[in-house]
Amino acid sequence: MWAIAAFAIGKTMTIDWAKLEQEFQFTAPGKNKLAWVDTKNYGKRPEDSVIDTIVLHHTASPNLGGTVKWFTMEESQVSCHFTIGKDGSIVQMVSCYDRAWQAGRSSDAYGRSNVNDFSIGIEIVNMGDGKDPYTEDQLEAVENLVGSLIKRFPIKQIVSHEFIAEPAGRKNDPINYPWERLERFHVPMYFGQKKG
Ligand SMILES: [Zn+2]
Repeated sequence: MWAIAAFAIGKTMTIDWAKLEQEFQFTAPGKNKLAWVDTKNYGKRPEDSVIDTIVLHHTASPNLGGTVKWFTMEESQVSCHFTIGKDGSIVQMVSCYDRAWQAGRSSDAYGRSNVNDFSIGIEIVNMGDGKDPYTEDQLEAVENLVGSLIKRFPIKQIVSHEFIAEPAGRKNDPINYPWERLERFHVPMYFGQKKG
């Protein structure tokens, strides 16, 4: 059993990730391949939204199937556009044109709140304990996906959940992410804790 501070709703829940994965009949598609899984945990973006932000997260969970299952459950009240497994598998659950429930209470470097309105969220399967390493397959899948999204949407920033979470210090994800690997995209990046 893994006890985690469960995502956006701010309650501490105990989630049995192995059991969730077992219950969920799901085959990971493999590196850089995308599988679609439906969830009801999303809404419409405001009509004038410009999708200009990518938010990176760690899942605070050990496996892809259990995490995706959790994002399908109404009680979680969370979801994400994309979730990347340790093997580089990509699961999409919410259309980029819809609003996933990933950022929670948030604001960005431009002072805009409700980051979910204008962002695409990428969850990276990782325990988030500072010891669990991201795999090379996983980092490559994140980078390929980010590169594709930058070509499709007017992305002006890539941010950590930690940076945008309110109040400051509410989140620390994605912990130890190698941001320097994303510098080649020449998009401003905001990570660490926001000052002031
Ligand atoms: Zn997060």
